[in-house]
Amino acid sequence: MQVIEGEATIGGGCRSAELTLPGFVHDICSAVHPLGRGSPFFSQLPLDRHGLRWIDPPVPLAHPLDDGAVLLLRDLDETAHRLGADADTYRDLVGPAVRNWDVIINDLTGPFRIPLHPRKLLAAAGFGVRALQSLTGLASRFKTKAARALLAGCGAHSMIGLTEYLSGAFGLIFLASGHSVGWPIPAGGSQRIADALAAHLESLGGTIVLGQRITSIDHLEPARGVLFDISPRQLLEIAGGRLSCWRGSGLYLRQLRRFRQGPGVFKLDLALDGPIPWRDPEVLRAATVHLGGTLEEIVASEAAATNGRIPESPFVLLAQCSLFDSSRAPAGRHTVWAYCHVPNGATVDMTERILTQIERFAPGFRDRILATSKLTPADLERYNPNNLGGDIGGGRSDIGQFFTRPAWRLDPYSTPDPGIFLCSASTPPGAGVHGLCGWYAARSALRGILRGGHGTQIA
Ligand SMILES: Cc1cc2nc3c(=O)[nH]c(=O)nc-3n(C[C@H](O)[C@H](O)[C@H](O)COP(=O)(O)OP(=O)(O)OC[C@H]3O[C@@H](n4cnc5c(N)ncnc54)[C@H](O)[C@@H]3O)c2cc1C
Repeated sequence: MQVIEGEATIGGGCRSAELTLPGFVHDICSAVHPLGRGSPFFSQLPLDRHGLRWIDPPVPLAHPLDDGAVLLLRDLDETAHRLGADADTYRDLVGPAVRNWDVIINDLTGPFRIPLHPRKLLAAAGFGVRALQSLTGLASRFKTKAARALLAGCGAHSMIGLTEYLSGAFGLIFLASGHSVGWPIPAGGSQRIADALAAHLESLGGTIVLGQRITSIDHLEPARGVLFDISPRQLLEIAGGRLSCWRGSGLYLRQLRRFRQGPGVFKLDLALDGPIPWRDPEVLRAATVHLGGTLEEIVASEAAATNGRIPESPFVLLAQCSLFDSSRAPAGRHTVWAYCHVPNGATVDMTERILTQIERFAPGFRDRILATSKLTPADLERYNPNNLGGDIGGGRSDIGQFFTRPAWRLDPYSTPDPGIFLCSASTPPGAGVHGLCGWYAARSALRGILRGGHGTQIA
């Protein structure tokens, strides 16, 4: 098994570096990992033996509003209780997803399938009925501004409009993950996840080749199976010719050409000379903070980004990891990771808009900034060609595409060539550091090889 990486270091969307000042370790892409902790694949691997240690902040998520923060706590009842008039509605909405977390994570992530076990089938049906709804539809059950905002911030991870079908699923999954597995950060930065995975691979005899960008499948050594961790567009460029030799490839290639990207991301990393001076000090208990105010404001921000407009008051996802991991910054100093959604390929500098959104809930915050690093959608694509136009989601996750990524096929990882597989975030279950796309694709490849179809993987 050989992994080929185009960059000089491994990790892709899971890398850390001193982006601002010496001694300040920033996560270039992923920072917070509910799906990494919950992954049925990662949980089978001895990643702790290879140096991965999860840190659980006391509170998974804080969502400041102008009159105080709403918190997602590990405990479902405590979270519900703090929502006052919406306590019962919150328990009714999120409770079933928490109780059936094992079904959601084991049976509903990955290639589309219907669980056969009656308990699982019932749980999946119950979840599906809610998950297919729009986030605004689900939020209409709530009476309080706090509950609606909490749900909206989680739904915005979908990177689709929050009035669209299926946006509710993201809200439910992210809330339920907070109660089921927490929203942990890796000690030392997300690079430690990639390093632990690489160390495990090498302990099994696998090898990693660095700095070899593949532009054509003809540059690869002959292998029985090749798994591509790349976008559908790159697959067309690299292997389109080879794929077109196979019967039935016309439809597959047409679907890859029609594959739609989601909005882009504009990211800021900051070095601070102290913690963020949140107006509500409870926000200091969480590593992850959702900034965007009310449901209505977040809906407007996400609608703009998905419809080609620049959000004036963007929804900002922020992580303050150094509060819980002293290895991230010199003593007394802190790092901030923050990004917002923008139209795919947008070239507008969002720095001021992001800083204004933080300052709104933390007056005096700007005075603490020592240094800033920004990544535009174009920078993110240069950094990793999978982030097309700054899309970090591996393609739009709307109802028209979510269940058929990257193409209508019983086995979405397979291609018309029995030796070529796709294993990127453009396959189920989509973006996030969880390893599940690769895991399911590897199983598909092994089935193919057993049928008669040395692996090479581009990671
Ligand atoms: C700003 C940002 C914030 C994010 N935040 C989070 C978060 O907090 N939590 C979370 O779970 N997820 C987050 N994500 C998403 C997450 O990083 C990705 O979904 C995840 O990394 C996908 O993993 P992957 O291994 O499939 O692919 P990638 O991480 O995209 O890795 C693919 C690798 O393949 C290499 N490659 C690509 N093309 C070629 C080629 N032609 N030849 C050779 N090598 C090639 C790339 O250099 C890269 O190293 C974030 C992403 C970004 C960009």
